[in-house]
Amino acid sequence: MSEGAVKKEERRKFQAIKGTRDILPPETALWNRVGFGEIRLPIFEETELFARSIGGDTDVVAKEMYSFVDKAVPDIERASGEAFAREVLFATGDAFADYVEKFEGFLERVKKAYRSGEIPHTEANRNGIEKLEKYRAVALERVQWGDLNTSPEAVADYTAAAAAFLWHMQLGYPMSLRPEATASVCRAYIEHNMQQLPQPVKLYCIGPMFRRERPQKGRYRQFYQIDAEVLGGTDAPAIDAEVIEMVMTFFDRLGLEGVQLDINCIGDKKCRPKYVELLRAELSKVKDKLGADSQRRIETNPLRVLDSKLESEQKLIEAMPHIADHLCEECAENYRGVKKELELRGVKYRENWRLVRGLDYYMRTTFEITAPGLGSQNAVCGGGRYDGLMELLGGPRTNATGFAIGEDRLILSLLETGHSPLATRHAPLLYIAWMGEKAYAAAIRAAKDLRNAGFSVELPPVEQKFGKALGQADKLGARFALILGDNEVSSGEWTLKTLADGKQEKLRESDLVEHLKKQL
Ligand code: AMP
Repeated sequence: MSEGAVKKEERRKFQAIKGTRDILPPETALWNRVGFGEIRLPIFEETELFARSIGGDTDVVAKEMYSFVDKAVPDIERASGEAFAREVLFATGDAFADYVEKFEGFLERVKKAYRSGEIPHTEANRNGIEKLEKYRAVALERVQWGDLNTSPEAVADYTAAAAAFLWHMQLGYPMSLRPEATASVCRAYIEHNMQQLPQPVKLYCIGPMFRRERPQKGRYRQFYQIDAEVLGGTDAPAIDAEVIEMVMTFFDRLGLEGVQLDINCIGDKKCRPKYVELLRAELSKVKDKLGADSQRRIETNPLRVLDSKLESEQKLIEAMPHIADHLCEECAENYRGVKKELELRGVKYRENWRLVRGLDYYMRTTFEITAPGLGSQNAVCGGGRYDGLMELLGGPRTNATGFAIGEDRLILSLLETGHSPLATRHAPLLYIAWMGEKAYAAAIRAAKDLRNAGFSVELPPVEQKFGKALGQADKLGARFALILGDNEVSSGEWTLKTLADGKQEKLRESDLVEHLKKQL
């Protein structure tokens, strides 16, 4: 690609892929209660969007994405173009006409897709289209109209060139299943001009992410994240602290105990590069004692060496310079602010100078929350500030901060720490034990009335003996059983049993709903 073409490609704004769309608030609602609007994002985006945001040197981009080329013109049509190139000198009659038609069809589709932007505006594609058109004219004139000014050799040369161009054309954009959500959220913010909304814009999304990692406990290739982002507005430390407070409160309400919050500040464009160089120099001095991965990362991304869990490297890494001692005054001030704001909110944290996180787009605050019962994959939430990302994606400079909770690990940790799924199961409030035809009609009426009043009711679909029905009510964890037999129906006095203590009361049908309301 020429330099001009590269520049043009870089300037191109990212957009949701044709046929995919973002679903924005107010179309959606739920976290609205805490001021967040739901955004539903496509599962796949252009590979380049992730590469540019997350960083080409990261494991996620370099090794773990599920990628494919979204071909606007399928290979099978490219093959028919190639067949034309191969056969054009020899075919005659109908066969020739058939090749010509297929080739024309292929070229038209390529040109259309090029115009609409569905195939990239690269030099190879532009050249390819030009050369193929020229080749078509020459080949047709020679073979169809018997123009003998062009020798068979010249046509053969054109043929070879056309076939080569054909195979260098890129018939669509490389796509990837999303490995995380932040890049897409930013793409959507820019694409839908959300900077014009009152700032900050608070969005959340829940859904599957895909990374080709080595599967183990708590690590899957398709996993689920709950993602929250605060986009635009100021970069005040209070925002970072509030976001962290929110996720800690969320864990607390779920009853997740023993969580540990680690925070760090990784500087910004001004101070981080200097620290990275210092770290690179210091790591180089002990290069021979480091493992192969870390040796490579000294060149590609020295910060990632701090992430290493390799036992033999720990002592060496502990002796490395800390970024906190190399922050510029603005970043240091910001970091002090974040800690103060956390303290004001009573959020307990631990400073961890090695917390750099795997994604390149973070700046200043980074944080991670770990939970018990998970083994080595114990991070249940990661997040931080990424003020530079929007600009990197061709949007306006925008302050932004957010986090992603690993939903699989969250559930796993809850289970491992004794939160039985039965305990949180939605038990019915009331079980209707009925016997007899008349009782069944009354039971259906009662179920309808109670459900209309907002109670959850279990109405067994077939008749059972009372003993069995009450046993079933117990098993389901119902609080009350309504006993309806022939006696109850004929006397109009229904029996309500409280299952915990076996207390029984007589009630009239018309009093049932009001009576239950009083009990709750
Ligand atoms: P990250 O996007 O890498 O910052 O990850 C945020 C959170 O997502 C982590 O703290 C994990 O809880 C979760 N997570 C990341 N990768 C996986 C995976 N392969 N399987 C399950 N959970 C994951």
